[in-house]
Amino acid sequence: MSKTLFEKIIARELPAAIIYEDDLVLAFRDIKPAAPVHVLIVPKQLIPRLAEAQADDQKLLGHLLLKAAEVAKQLDLKDGYRLVINNGADGGETVPHLHVHILGGRPMAWPPG
Ligand code: 5GP
Repeated sequence: MSKTLFEKIIARELPAAIIYEDDLVLAFRDIKPAAPVHVLIVPKQLIPRLAEAQADDQKLLGHLLLKAAEVAKQLDLKDGYRLVINNGADGGETVPHLHVHILGGRPMAWPPG
């Protein structure tokens, strides 16, 4: 099976502005930022989308969220930030590799578009 875009970034086959890495996750800046700060954090293990996560992934998903909060702190998003997971076509998912968007640096509107 061919690699997802984010697997290629994880494997350093494509460049990205990486800001955090550990054994389980990688965080890098979004190529088309939707806010002054826009970072993606992804599990290194391929889970196509949240709907396909399994009970066995519980620890990894917890790690992903805890690290998203750590990265937001590292990015100095003191006034707050938004985490987004787009799931499937109606959710706006374009890359089939689970990722959490970390958006900040401006007030976010609600409801989202
Ligand atoms: P989704 O729409 O699937 O929730 O989010 C995919 C995100 O990946 C989008 O915000 C898009 O701008 C970002 N993206 C797409 N291609 C690349 C790339 O080659 N490098 C980086 N860093 N981000 C990308």
